[in-house]
Amino acid sequence: MASSAPKRARTCAEETVFEGYLHDVTQMETSGKNTDYFNCNLQTSRDQYRRCVVYDAKKHGFYVKAAADRKPLKISNAGTILSNVNPGQLDIRIYYASTENMLKSLDFGYIEKPSIPNSVEEAQDPESARQRLEVEQQEVGQEEEEEVEQQEEEEVEYERITKVRGPVRGIQLADQRQCSNCRKGQLTFNIKAINHRCEACGLLQRVGSYVQAVNGTVMVNEGDGKLMLTLTLTVLMTYLSQNDLQELLADVQLVEEHFMEGGLFVILYNANNEVVVVTTGNV
Ligand SMILES: [Zn+2]
Repeated sequence: MASSAPKRARTCAEETVFEGYLHDVTQMETSGKNTDYFNCNLQTSRDQYRRCVVYDAKKHGFYVKAAADRKPLKISNAGTILSNVNPGQLDIRIYYASTENMLKSLDFGYIEKPSIPNSVEEAQDPESARQRLEVEQQEVGQEEEEEVEQQEEEEVEYERITKVRGPVRGIQLADQRQCSNCRKGQLTFNIKAINHRCEACGLLQRVGSYVQAVNGTVMVNEGDGKLMLTLTLTVLMTYLSQNDLQELLADVQLVEEHFMEGGLFVILYNANNEVVVVTTGNV
């Protein structure tokens, strides 16, 4: 069952909306790959603080102010990644295409992050993560071998991941903006305008407050035939940021061309033909 943790993490990676209070916004930093980012913590309940990595220098001022104001915030179009700081936990990744909206209230208040000494915090984190990840296995007694086997089968069926490696044969990405109020997709949207009136609810809003909802289809070879897979913004952003290609998202046609000219890719997809991970497959 050693493989169960990463599989579950991949399932959780579909989480894209987070609500809470910001704490501890760091200064801008630059990674080894020359990517600008900063960290902060998002308090997502009375006692949970999730580490965030924000890959957008332009958001820094807003995050510093939101943390100082202690106002509740909703972050959309974000992603998650297995934390390299808190073992077994998922950090929140925030990109420039992610959007932040102030909320009126949440059902819990701003609570100062308890300053636990590092050693204690590290000792607690793996345990709570293990509890979440392995709670089902722990409930099963070791003597009930049959039940264990049955459960493993069910999990594999539910989280069946298939891997293909090869060139992308076709791709279509639709760059649609959604109203942050009513969530309806906009048929005509001018990114260079200042304001845009929602075609559904009629609310005039800043162009930047519309949520970018890139969804797409990728065609790859499978045996003698072709296979059509769904590609979500979260998966796409993870790929682009890992390869320092976030700028391409300014024009989805550039992203399409990148995939057509990009050589080999390794694509993992689930039982619903949804891509869960894309990486370059060039050796
Ligand atoms: Zn609307």
